[in-house]
Amino acid sequence: MGRRLLFLGPPGGGKGTQAKLVTRALGIPHISTGDMLREAMESGSELGKRASEYMVVGDLVPDDLVVALVEERLARDDAAGGYLLDGFPRNLRQAEILTEVVGDDAINTIIYLCVDEDEVVERLLKRAEIEGRSDDNEETIRHRIEIFHGETEPLVTYYGDRVRRVEGTGSVEDIFCRVACELAS
Ligand code: AMP
Repeated sequence: MGRRLLFLGPPGGGKGTQAKLVTRALGIPHISTGDMLREAMESGSELGKRASEYMVVGDLVPDDLVVALVEERLARDDAAGGYLLDGFPRNLRQAEILTEVVGDDAINTIIYLCVDEDEVVERLLKRAEIEGRSDDNEETIRHRIEIFHGETEPLVTYYGDRVRRVEGTGSVEDIFCRVACELAS
Protein backbone atom coordinates (compact mmCIF):
# COMPACT_ATOMS: atom_id res chain seq x y z
CA MET A 1 0.00 0.00 0.00
CA GLY A 2 2.91 2.36 0.63
CA ARG A 3 2.85 5.67 2.37
CA ARG A 4 -0.16 7.86 2.02
CA LEU A 5 0.81 11.26 3.26
CA LEU A 6 -1.00 14.55 3.62
CA PHE A 7 0.74 17.88 4.04
CA LEU A 8 -1.29 20.53 5.82
CA GLY A 9 -0.34 24.11 6.52
CA PRO A 10 -1.10 27.71 5.71
CA PRO A 11 -0.64 29.06 2.20
CA GLY A 12 3.00 30.04 1.86
CA GLY A 13 3.92 27.68 4.68
CA GLY A 14 6.37 25.72 2.54
CA LYS A 15 4.18 22.67 1.85
CA GLY A 16 4.99 22.58 -1.86
CA THR A 17 8.74 22.83 -1.34
CA GLN A 18 8.84 20.15 1.35
CA ALA A 19 6.41 17.94 -0.57
CA LYS A 20 8.75 17.97 -3.58
CA LEU A 21 11.72 16.90 -1.45
CA VAL A 22 9.82 14.18 0.39
CA THR A 23 8.24 12.67 -2.74
CA ARG A 24 11.62 12.60 -4.46
CA ALA A 25 13.16 10.85 -1.46
CA LEU A 26 10.34 8.31 -1.14
CA GLY A 27 9.67 7.82 -4.86
CA ILE A 28 5.94 8.49 -4.56
CA PRO A 29 3.85 10.92 -6.63
CA HIS A 30 3.34 14.47 -5.42
CA ILE A 31 -0.34 15.23 -5.89
CA SER A 32 -0.89 18.97 -5.61
CA THR A 33 -4.39 20.19 -6.42
CA GLY A 34 -3.05 23.76 -6.69
CA ASP A 35 -0.54 22.65 -9.37
CA MET A 36 -3.18 20.61 -11.18
CA LEU A 37 -5.61 23.53 -11.19
CA ARG A 38 -2.93 25.95 -12.40
CA GLU A 39 -2.08 23.54 -15.23
CA ALA A 40 -5.76 23.34 -16.16
CA MET A 41 -5.90 27.15 -16.16
CA GLU A 42 -2.85 27.42 -18.40
CA SER A 43 -4.20 24.83 -20.82
CA GLY A 44 -7.34 26.95 -21.22
CA SER A 45 -9.63 23.95 -20.56
CA GLU A 46 -13.22 24.39 -19.44
CA LEU A 47 -12.26 23.19 -15.95
CA GLY A 48 -9.36 25.67 -15.89
CA LYS A 49 -11.67 28.54 -16.83
CA ARG A 50 -14.17 27.66 -14.11
CA ALA A 51 -11.45 27.19 -11.49
CA SER A 52 -9.69 30.44 -12.30
CA GLU A 53 -12.73 32.52 -11.31
CA TYR A 54 -12.25 31.31 -7.74
CA MET A 55 -8.46 31.08 -7.69
CA VAL A 56 -7.75 34.65 -8.73
CA VAL A 57 -9.65 35.98 -5.73
CA GLY A 58 -8.27 33.38 -3.33
CA ASP A 59 -11.51 31.43 -2.83
CA LEU A 60 -11.66 27.66 -2.79
CA VAL A 61 -12.65 26.04 -6.06
CA PRO A 62 -15.97 24.11 -5.68
CA ASP A 63 -15.50 20.69 -4.11
CA ASP A 64 -16.99 18.72 -7.04
CA LEU A 65 -14.38 20.06 -9.49
CA VAL A 66 -11.44 19.33 -7.21
CA VAL A 67 -12.72 15.95 -6.07
CA ALA A 68 -13.12 14.81 -9.69
CA LEU A 69 -9.51 15.80 -10.41
CA VAL A 70 -8.17 13.98 -7.36
CA GLU A 71 -10.26 10.86 -7.95
CA GLU A 72 -8.94 10.60 -11.47
CA ARG A 73 -5.37 11.17 -10.28
CA LEU A 74 -5.54 8.60 -7.48
CA ALA A 75 -6.85 5.98 -9.90
CA ARG A 76 -3.63 6.09 -11.93
CA ASP A 77 -1.18 3.21 -11.53
CA ASP A 78 1.60 5.24 -9.96
CA ALA A 79 -0.59 6.11 -6.97
CA ALA A 80 -1.04 2.45 -6.04
CA GLY A 81 2.26 2.42 -4.12
CA GLY A 82 1.52 5.53 -2.07
CA TYR A 83 1.32 9.27 -2.61
CA LEU A 84 1.62 12.64 -0.99
CA LEU A 85 -1.42 14.90 -1.06
CA ASP A 86 -0.58 18.60 -1.01
CA GLY A 87 -3.50 21.03 -0.80
CA PHE A 88 -6.22 18.39 -0.70
CA PRO A 89 -8.41 17.89 1.31
CA ARG A 90 -8.87 21.57 2.02
CA ASN A 91 -12.09 21.39 4.05
CA LEU A 92 -14.11 18.84 6.00
CA ARG A 93 -16.39 17.98 3.08
CA GLN A 94 -13.41 17.05 0.89
CA ALA A 95 -11.93 14.99 3.73
CA GLU A 96 -15.19 13.09 4.12
CA ILE A 97 -15.43 12.45 0.39
CA LEU A 98 -11.84 11.18 0.33
CA THR A 99 -12.64 8.73 3.12
CA GLU A 100 -15.79 7.60 1.29
CA VAL A 101 -14.01 7.12 -2.02
CA VAL A 102 -10.69 5.61 -0.90
CA GLY A 103 -11.52 4.37 2.58
CA ASP A 104 -10.20 5.10 6.04
CA ASP A 105 -6.61 4.42 5.04
CA ALA A 106 -6.64 7.08 2.29
CA ILE A 107 -4.18 8.94 4.50
CA ASN A 108 -1.96 7.43 7.15
CA THR A 109 0.36 10.24 8.19
CA ILE A 110 -0.29 13.95 8.26
CA ILE A 111 2.43 16.54 8.51
CA TYR A 112 1.20 19.89 9.73
CA LEU A 113 3.71 22.62 8.96
CA CYS A 114 3.26 25.36 11.54
CA VAL A 115 4.39 28.80 10.44
CA ASP A 116 3.86 32.20 12.00
CA GLU A 117 1.26 34.28 10.14
CA ASP A 118 3.44 37.36 9.54
CA GLU A 119 6.13 35.16 8.06
CA VAL A 120 3.60 33.53 5.75
CA VAL A 121 2.47 36.90 4.39
CA GLU A 122 6.07 37.98 3.88
CA ARG A 123 6.95 34.76 2.04
CA LEU A 124 3.90 35.01 -0.20
CA LEU A 125 4.61 38.63 -1.12
CA LYS A 126 8.17 37.63 -2.03
CA ARG A 127 6.85 34.72 -4.13
CA ALA A 128 4.47 37.13 -5.87
CA GLU A 129 7.46 39.16 -7.03
CA ILE A 130 9.41 36.14 -8.20
CA GLU A 131 6.72 33.91 -9.73
CA GLY A 132 4.02 36.45 -10.54
CA ARG A 133 1.20 34.11 -9.44
CA SER A 134 -2.09 35.91 -10.00
CA ASP A 135 -3.37 35.00 -6.51
CA ASP A 136 -0.31 36.32 -4.64
CA ASN A 137 -1.33 39.91 -3.90
CA GLU A 138 -1.80 41.22 -0.37
CA GLU A 139 -5.61 41.26 -0.34
CA THR A 140 -5.88 37.76 -1.79
CA ILE A 141 -3.18 36.49 0.55
CA ARG A 142 -5.10 37.73 3.62
CA HIS A 143 -8.24 36.12 2.25
CA ARG A 144 -6.51 32.77 1.65
CA ILE A 145 -5.18 32.82 5.21
CA GLU A 146 -8.71 33.45 6.53
CA ILE A 147 -9.98 30.54 4.47
CA PHE A 148 -7.19 28.40 5.84
CA HIS A 149 -8.24 29.17 9.43
CA GLY A 150 -11.96 28.76 8.75
CA GLU A 151 -12.00 25.76 6.41
CA THR A 152 -8.71 23.88 6.46
CA GLU A 153 -7.46 24.13 10.04
CA PRO A 154 -10.45 22.13 11.39
CA LEU A 155 -8.90 19.14 9.59
CA VAL A 156 -6.25 19.05 12.32
CA THR A 157 -8.97 18.11 14.80
CA TYR A 158 -10.70 15.85 12.28
CA TYR A 159 -7.58 13.72 11.72
CA GLY A 160 -6.67 13.73 15.43
CA ASP A 161 -3.64 11.70 16.41
CA ARG A 162 -2.57 11.03 12.83
CA VAL A 163 -1.34 14.65 12.73
CA ARG A 164 2.36 15.37 13.37
CA ARG A 165 3.18 19.01 13.97
CA VAL A 166 6.41 20.26 12.45
CA GLU A 167 7.93 23.68 13.06
CA GLY A 168 7.99 25.22 9.57
CA THR A 169 10.39 28.08 10.28
CA GLY A 170 14.06 28.05 9.32
CA SER A 171 15.98 26.89 6.26
CA VAL A 172 14.49 24.47 3.74
CA GLU A 173 17.11 21.89 4.83
CA ASP A 174 16.33 22.26 8.54
CA ILE A 175 12.60 21.87 7.94
CA PHE A 176 13.20 18.87 5.70
CA CYS A 177 15.22 17.22 8.51
CA ARG A 178 12.33 17.73 10.92
CA VAL A 179 9.83 16.33 8.42
CA ALA A 180 12.06 13.33 7.65
CA CYS A 181 12.43 12.67 11.39
CA GLU A 182 8.67 12.62 11.84
CA LEU A 183 8.22 10.30 8.88
CA ALA A 184 10.87 7.93 10.19
CA SER A 185 9.36 7.68 13.67
P1 AMP B 1 -2.31 26.11 -3.55
O1 AMP B 1 -1.33 26.04 -4.65
O2 AMP B 1 -2.49 24.77 -2.84
O3 AMP B 1 -2.04 27.22 -2.58
O4 AMP B 1 -3.74 26.41 -4.22
C1 AMP B 1 -3.96 27.59 -4.94
C2 AMP B 1 -5.45 27.81 -5.14
O5 AMP B 1 -6.03 26.69 -5.81
C3 AMP B 1 -6.26 27.92 -3.84
O6 AMP B 1 -6.26 29.24 -3.31
C4 AMP B 1 -7.65 27.49 -4.31
O7 AMP B 1 -8.27 28.54 -5.05
C5 AMP B 1 -7.32 26.38 -5.32
N1 AMP B 1 -7.27 25.06 -4.66
C6 AMP B 1 -6.18 24.24 -4.51
N2 AMP B 1 -6.51 23.10 -3.91
C7 AMP B 1 -7.85 23.18 -3.64
C8 AMP B 1 -8.80 22.32 -3.02
N3 AMP B 1 -8.44 21.12 -2.51
N4 AMP B 1 -10.08 22.74 -2.95
C9 AMP B 1 -10.48 23.93 -3.44
N5 AMP B 1 -9.64 24.80 -4.03
C10 AMP B 1 -8.33 24.44 -4.14
